[in-house]
Amino acid sequence: MVVRGLGWLVVSMMVLGSAQAREYRYSDAHLHYVDFFQESAGMDELLKAMDAARIDQSMISGVSVAKKWHEDEPKRPRYYAGDDADAYWYSATDIYVAAALQKLPEPQRRRFHPFLTGFNPVDKNAAAHVERMLELYPGVWQGIGEVFTRHDDLTALTSGDTPRANNEALTLIYHLAAEHDMPVLVHSNITSKRERNPLYLAEIETPLRNHPHTRFIWAHAGTSMEIHRHQAQLDFLLPTLTRMLEAYPNLYIDLSWSVLQPYLLDDQGVPRAEWVALVERFPERFMLGSDVVGRFNSLGEQLHGFDPFLDALPAEVAQRVARDNFLAILPKPR
Ligand SMILES: [Zn+2]
Repeated sequence: MVVRGLGWLVVSMMVLGSAQAREYRYSDAHLHYVDFFQESAGMDELLKAMDAARIDQSMISGVSVAKKWHEDEPKRPRYYAGDDADAYWYSATDIYVAAALQKLPEPQRRRFHPFLTGFNPVDKNAAAHVERMLELYPGVWQGIGEVFTRHDDLTALTSGDTPRANNEALTLIYHLAAEHDMPVLVHSNITSKRERNPLYLAEIETPLRNHPHTRFIWAHAGTSMEIHRHQAQLDFLLPTLTRMLEAYPNLYIDLSWSVLQPYLLDDQGVPRAEWVALVERFPERFMLGSDVVGRFNSLGEQLHGFDPFLDALPAEVAQRVARDNFLAILPKPR
């Protein structure tokens, strides 16, 4: 008994020791260089934050809408949800990203993977715009997104029709993405704030089924902080994701913030066994993102927040999730 007890102690010390010894290198699969007013703390700040947080590589995109400062509003808004003014589709966002990258020395520029996002996802001309941007910046863009479709209050606040991930304009974009071997990051909430069922699931599932040659990154796995505020955890999320990962090999999951808690970690910050098991079962399909918008001081905190969950995974799987999976779905060098 004593020997067995000792053995257990030694094994658990080894497990603890190895977990504590892990120091991950990260890639960020979801980062916005600008905010909803198209402003940014700038490239120096971003690089400083990446270096401090051991983030080797990062997706970089603008924000596809600009929030209006409407003359009826008493104060300049600080966030899209700050007042009743609307937001509108804003293409120049990609120009800011491209310009910031062009100023960088080559070794720093290579750390970034720019995604095109400045188009109106209810306009069937959007694909033609994306093609023009690809021609205008040869070899620059490596992906498309974040495409905003169902996105909490932003959906209703955006001028024009509600974008669905399964509409005709986006169908053309998905074809184009496949043609150019580019992944598409789509924000498509799985439900509304109040409905306790996967109200909008079909909108993301239809393109997954119809575009097997397009790689989709599902932002936040369809969750949002706003949904959590109204209905805590979605019971159907884990079974739905399990089924979809089985059915669609072109589906990748961005675990950023609203998935970390309450799903990956419980209230005490302890990794949930069923989520650890899911990631272990599909070790190539999950990636981390910060989803910061234009300010970068929380970058390290965002990504290191995943460490307790990563520590619960086998070391090799953890490193894939922390860095390698995002890099693996980028276009193959030609
Ligand atoms: Zn985002």
